[in-house]
Amino acid sequence: MNKKRVAIIGAGIIGVTTAYELAQKGFDVTVFDKNQTCSEESSFANGGVISPGYITPWASPSIFKRLLKEQFSKHASILLRAPHFETLRWLSQSIKASKSERYWRHRQVLQKLALMTQTRLKELTQSLGLDLEQSQGFNIIYRSERHFEWAKSALPYLSDLGVAFQIMDQEALLTKEPALESQTPMVGAIHLPDDQVINCRQFALSLRDEAEKIGVHFEFKSVIDALSPDNPLRLVVNGKPQFFDHVVVCAGMGSLPLLKPLALNLPMTAVYGYSMTAIIKEPLDAPKCGIMDEKYKVTIVRQGNRVRIGGIMEFGGDPKTHNPKAIKTLYKVLEDWFPKATDMGQQIQVWKGARAMLPKGSPIIGATPHSGLWLNLGHGSSGWATSCGSAQVLAGLMSHEISSSEWSELALT
Ligand SMILES: Cc1cc2nc3c(=O)[nH]c(=O)nc-3n(C[C@H](O)[C@H](O)[C@H](O)COP(=O)(O)OP(=O)(O)OC[C@H]3O[C@@H](n4cnc5c(N)ncnc54)[C@H](O)[C@@H]3O)c2cc1C
Repeated sequence: MNKKRVAIIGAGIIGVTTAYELAQKGFDVTVFDKNQTCSEESSFANGGVISPGYITPWASPSIFKRLLKEQFSKHASILLRAPHFETLRWLSQSIKASKSERYWRHRQVLQKLALMTQTRLKELTQSLGLDLEQSQGFNIIYRSERHFEWAKSALPYLSDLGVAFQIMDQEALLTKEPALESQTPMVGAIHLPDDQVINCRQFALSLRDEAEKIGVHFEFKSVIDALSPDNPLRLVVNGKPQFFDHVVVCAGMGSLPLLKPLALNLPMTAVYGYSMTAIIKEPLDAPKCGIMDEKYKVTIVRQGNRVRIGGIMEFGGDPKTHNPKAIKTLYKVLEDWFPKATDMGQQIQVWKGARAMLPKGSPIIGATPHSGLWLNLGHGSSGWATSCGSAQVLAGLMSHEISSSEWSELALT
């Protein structure tokens, strides 16, 4: 029997993991990307955090207050740069989605995907013998009593999911992260022993090689034109048409122009974030694994011999212009917690990436009204943590092994 031909648009972490899972299910897969290789856009220099214990939709019940307050703070985690009407509309949809009951539903679905990802990553790294930069354990540090109390009130929910955690004071945390600056005030921390930091791009490149071994074709430097509503399974690749049985759009922010003619309901916006990466000066002065500073929503992680500081939600703005306020916040958080991890005078790689974010904070995974056209997009802040799980869900739906009712929260509405 002829294998069904599938085209995947986008070779970020979502496209690569989707390609691998679909090939495992017996599809004949071709991945197209406009760049020279995979993981060149949002999956390039992210924080690498896979934390089922921490993962949350960005729109939490306190988000509106936080957003307003932070506009007047010297160091902020949320920056609003000359927002136009579309951004404000998106923010108002997001605030609606942050209402408690909806927030918990979205959080639960993200957690399920992250747990699936964790399990699948373990299987793949072991069975394929992948050698990845990774470290074990993740710590969320609280500077405010109020935030700490709120986080603690949610812990029974982690127990229900089987996620291990420990509440820690500063002394206990220092046994996990001995290089942490003890002079910086904190009220407590939550230690997540099973959560991890793994280099996302390194995994994407390794999995691309493994996918090729099982028959996936990657066509780089291939720009796909906007899909046609008459036949979205006819792709125009670098100006030439090609036909497929299925098309899966995993194109991050590039999905919007691709899908525009189809008029689907995709209220996705680019929320920019930054990371700074530098060589570790002395390993004993650097994080062993990773921390999240809950006040500034900034992560500091170890990736091999480098330290990476990541975070900031910037609305408006553009991909090329770096906002000095964002960079200052990242430096502040690094100085506060690991001041000796790196030599600030050396070359520091600053990266700005776009999180393709939906107001609800969880992605869209599944079918569209156009037969054969599928979506796996809108992964926002946690595309790496949910990548393998999302790919498994999509491959399960496409091969009719799972029903869409099991994952209705992820459906296109
Ligand atoms: C600062 C920052 C830190 C982050 N930290 C974390 C973290 O710690 N943990 C976590 O889970 N997530 C994190 N994220 C989020 C995560 O990086 C993203 O959710 C994830 O990378 C999205 O992957 P993707 O494959 O959907 O998109 P992308 O990686 O952007 O891939 C989309 C691909 O589609 C291609 N494409 C688009 N349009 C076309 C077209 N017309 N033709 C051909 N190709 C096209 C692009 O070239 C691109 O390669 C972070 C994000 C940022 C910005």
